[in-house]
Amino acid sequence: MTTSSLYHTQGIRGYTYQKTERKEKTEIYCLHSQASHCDCPKCKSRETSLVKTGKTRDIRGLFIGSKKTIMRVATRRIICQDCGASTQEPIHFCSDSYVRHTKWAARFALVLRADMSIKAVAQHTGMNWETVKKIEKNWLQKKYKRVPIGDVEYLGIDEVYLGQTFGFITVVRDMDSGDVLFVGKGKGGSALDPFKKRLGRRGKHIKAVAIDMANSYSAWVKEVLPNADIVYDHFHVIKLMNERMNNLRRSTMNKLEDEQKKELKGKRFLLLKNEENLSEKGADELKKLRFEFKDLGTASMMKEYLRNIYKLADSYGLARTAFLLWCEKAEASDIFCLKQMAKTIRRRLDGLLAYWKHEKLTSASQEGFNNKIGWLGG
Ligand SMILES: [Zn+2]
Repeated sequence: MTTSSLYHTQGIRGYTYQKTERKEKTEIYCLHSQASHCDCPKCKSRETSLVKTGKTRDIRGLFIGSKKTIMRVATRRIICQDCGASTQEPIHFCSDSYVRHTKWAARFALVLRADMSIKAVAQHTGMNWETVKKIEKNWLQKKYKRVPIGDVEYLGIDEVYLGQTFGFITVVRDMDSGDVLFVGKGKGGSALDPFKKRLGRRGKHIKAVAIDMANSYSAWVKEVLPNADIVYDHFHVIKLMNERMNNLRRSTMNKLEDEQKKELKGKRFLLLKNEENLSEKGADELKKLRFEFKDLGTASMMKEYLRNIYKLADSYGLARTAFLLWCEKAEASDIFCLKQMAKTIRRRLDGLLAYWKHEKLTSASQEGFNNKIGWLGG
């Protein structure tokens, strides 16, 4: 888990991921809020301070594979200097202060409810019967406080894999606010059919849609939102690069003797992690790894170059030049995964560069983006 995957798999942002604790079949992610200020919820005063309580609160997230997930949030209190109130800092990925599951988990329970009994949904989500019932009741009461789509300009569509039992869900987000607009069962364009209905003619305001490089949604976007640009953003590019690098690591491993195999197996994280996040020891080991396994070393350096394009290129033209240079370098290498990546980049260059064209998309996700820089690799 990383801060980035938290956003893409659990819909959580504005929180920093610290570590994972494991308990049998449960993964516990320890998080803390990134907010540096909160207005007083009682009197709206800005004169407040945030005080750590030293305590944590457990919130149920979506399953990942067969594992339950718990977000363990370090809680703080908002102390108001004007009215003297002391209130709990709100947790934005929950729909209310008393709720102990994420908004995504609630939405997912609703998706399942379409063709499962409450009992079955409870079993599948690990929630208890009353919770599922309550989620549904709330939803029926307010029809899940829908975000007006008419105002949305930048959409993000992601597929999230929830493991064998559940398979995929498709999540549509407002990239400006981070709000979830829709959760559909399955993946690909057909999962978006109910959303298309809801969109109606209001889709014409949508300027751009950020999607996965795997491209399973591009036909849908072209058909339903012909005026919107398709954007392959930072997160998805690095994700693909990491996947391909992992294939190379696996095939390298298969050719090795058992002893060496063990060594490489344990060092996957060194290749995937962003260089600046490695400890001194980690950085040394990465150097050694790059020397011993030349192809993997080159690929891991090329991944860093790719990340640097996002960090350093501040204009469309510069980004274009940098991507093309990257491709030339990759093509000149004898490494399959790099050549493959170069091919993808050339084929999707417009979509990659659209990221720079939509300045707003870049700055809108800036809040997440600043964090992303640190954690994209893992
Ligand atoms: Zn106050």
